[in-house]
Amino acid sequence: MINKSFKPGTTLSAKSIRYWRTVQLIFFLIGLCILLCLIFLPELGIHLFWNILIPIAPLLLVVATGLWRNICPMGTTSLIPRHLNVSQRKSLDAEQLSKLNFIAIVGLFIIVPLRHAIFNTNGLATAILLSSLVFIAISVGLKYEWKSAWCSGLCPVHPVEKLYGLKNKLKLPNAHCKTCHKCITPCPDKTPGLHPLTNKKSFLNKLSGLLLVAAFPGFVWGWFQVKDYESILSPQILLDVYGLPFLGMLFTILFYIILKPYVRKDLLISLFSFLAIAFYYWYRIPALFGFGIFPGDGMLVNLTQFVPELVITSISTSLIIFLFWWIVLSKKSKISWLLRPAYEVKTSFLK
Ligand code: SF4
Repeated sequence: MINKSFKPGTTLSAKSIRYWRTVQLIFFLIGLCILLCLIFLPELGIHLFWNILIPIAPLLLVVATGLWRNICPMGTTSLIPRHLNVSQRKSLDAEQLSKLNFIAIVGLFIIVPLRHAIFNTNGLATAILLSSLVFIAISVGLKYEWKSAWCSGLCPVHPVEKLYGLKNKLKLPNAHCKTCHKCITPCPDKTPGLHPLTNKKSFLNKLSGLLLVAAFPGFVWGWFQVKDYESILSPQILLDVYGLPFLGMLFTILFYIILKPYVRKDLLISLFSFLAIAFYYWYRIPALFGFGIFPGDGMLVNLTQFVPELVITSISTSLIIFLFWWIVLSKKSKISWLLRPAYEVKTSFLK
């Protein structure tokens, strides 16, 4: 599957396609099992989704964005209509793409705080959320070409891929798009060195990029200062779950604006990307093992009686040092998340 001789424009062999389809099927089934657990065994489903899959995801997005984009169960689901040849295969123009990208970021900022209000503790609510996203993903997959409208447009994880996937080092083929139809520009899969501010064609593009780079670190910090509730009924709870993340956003936007004239753009983006993920793991790893700010919230297993807190702090610190090296210090990436497939050959028929 990982072939050093792969170059942009390479067509996958039948054997490689079989490989990738098998892996995609396995992850699709894992996704389906998690969804069923969220409905029928909610406690297990919550652990599998919020306390295992989601904590691994940011690290995976940093070190292997393309791998994730090849195997993500939601992405695979969205592409089922295309693989079955029932998609209308429309292309998206720049304006449509910028609107979808903006909706994805707004969706991310709306959905994530609701984890504290309901999703973190309610398996059925999480299942309804995921099913709604699946419905949208399939609907846009039925209309638009390959990964344009969901994986590179509306998916709320896509903005985070752009922020964390700055330094790709893995050469992987595109295991979904069989041939490239140039359905979007820029295509995040085939653009080397992509970052959230790459696309500056419109005001919405710029706003989306700024919101993500500058606001996300503060949003992550603020999110971890809020405890889990089990209801969204009270306006006070909504104020609590959105208040600190939004305050954090304002703070880091201000910080970004102050630094912008003095720091090189690519370095500033790397620093803010690092800051966001560093906040995430600094708070998330202790919480997983019972050492969080709010004991019990987001806990996978309680190790407080068995392991000194220093061990957990050392693990978080080591991971954060590694991430600093990868995101900020390591060389700029010349490899796109995925290698471009061969362009589609347009056939014309002589009459
Ligand atoms: S690789 Fe080509 S076909 Fe696939 S999403 Fe990108 S532009 Fe579209």
